Amino acid sequence: MIQYMDFFSRLAEESASRKREFLEIGRIAGRFPAATTRQDGEIAVWCSNDYLGMGQHPLVVRAMKTAIDEYGAGSGGSRNIGGTNHYHVLLERELADLHGKEDALVFTSGYSANEGALSVLAGRMDGCVAFSDELNHASIIDGLRHSRAEKRIFRHNDPAHLEELVAAVDPRRPKLLVTESVHSMGGDMAPLAELADIAKRYGMLTFLDEVHAVGMYGPQGAGIAAERGLAGEFDLVMGTLAKAFGTTGGYVAGPSLLIDAVRAFSRSFIFTTALPPSVAAGGLAAVRHLRGSDVERERLRTNARTMHRMLAERRIPFLSDHSHIVSVRVGEDALCKRISALLLERHGMYVQAINAPSVRAGEEILRVAPGAVHSPADVRDFVTALDGIWTELGVPRGRTGRG
Ligand code: PMP
Repeated sequence: MIQYMDFFSRLAEESASRKREFLEIGRIAGRFPAATTRQDGEIAVWCSNDYLGMGQHPLVVRAMKTAIDEYGAGSGGSRNIGGTNHYHVLLERELADLHGKEDALVFTSGYSANEGALSVLAGRMDGCVAFSDELNHASIIDGLRHSRAEKRIFRHNDPAHLEELVAAVDPRRPKLLVTESVHSMGGDMAPLAELADIAKRYGMLTFLDEVHAVGMYGPQGAGIAAERGLAGEFDLVMGTLAKAFGTTGGYVAGPSLLIDAVRAFSRSFIFTTALPPSVAAGGLAAVRHLRGSDVERERLRTNARTMHRMLAERRIPFLSDHSHIVSVRVGEDALCKRISALLLERHGMYVQAINAPSVRAGEEILRVAPGAVHSPADVRDFVTALDGIWTELGVPRGRTGRG
């Protein structure tokens, strides 16, 4: 007989070491970053990916309500079998247009967009070798794994290492370069011009994850590649509707031929129910609004800069000053959780401690996301509160990490 109890007790022990307590929060409509909690009353959220507050923007909320009145709650099927609504089609056109690409395909999440698109692209090119940044997101890792293509992992944001690895591969083999523009955990930006140059010289297909950039950077919120005049250098751009665009869903945009292949073969696209029409309508309203408005982007930039400056003045170490993702370096799981708990209990400020598997053990961070929804005074209050805790707990001070 199989001894399930042995198996279960080992499983319980392993999961206990990764135990997660989820804070139950209710984002207060129209007042975000304010939120209610059961234990701590009203709090302010400092770690939301709804960076621009579009999840509560009246235009987005209204678009979703209207779509529910028009088409009801669910989509009724997979995209292929009765689940494609007019809003999905409009959204895909809008996203292709935003990125200056021929076509786009919307998935139910950014995770499934990466997983589905990469498994097809790397998997269907015979002999493909995929080159992936070592800190790329789990959805990229899983997509490449499922493609069964050979992989080469280059050191984080290190074009010289990428070139060394590419140069060692048979020039006749197809090659796919995959990276994030704004890194999800460190907030640092990839050296896109150098990477694109290598890709061009070695004839690589290029896939750029702009999940933490779309809506927030570049003309009309088209992302970092567009901001740097490099949009044309990346064959495929991938993004999410779940962060700056405030709703949910993911997408990939690129040449029709490749998007057709993803549409035809991607299992995470085919074998799941389409997003509800209301979600597609909300995403569409957010993309359209942010194409025409710089106000949110300006506020985000100002708040991020203020936070970088204030942390640097107090020598509170953080990983990078490139973006609105301000990862305060703690490097110790228990201490990280303690700082997070004190911020919440004493100041009603919520920032989640980030530990393994999101970051490596020993590299724990407080991933702070000053957004367009915070006021400059909020930013000052947050840093002042953090500074007080830093002193009280005697946490070492130091310099900002990698640029
Ligand atoms: N790519 C990156 C870099 C991410 O950080 C994330 C999610 N945090 C995703 C993809 C997946 O996006 P989504 O949340 O829409 O599934």
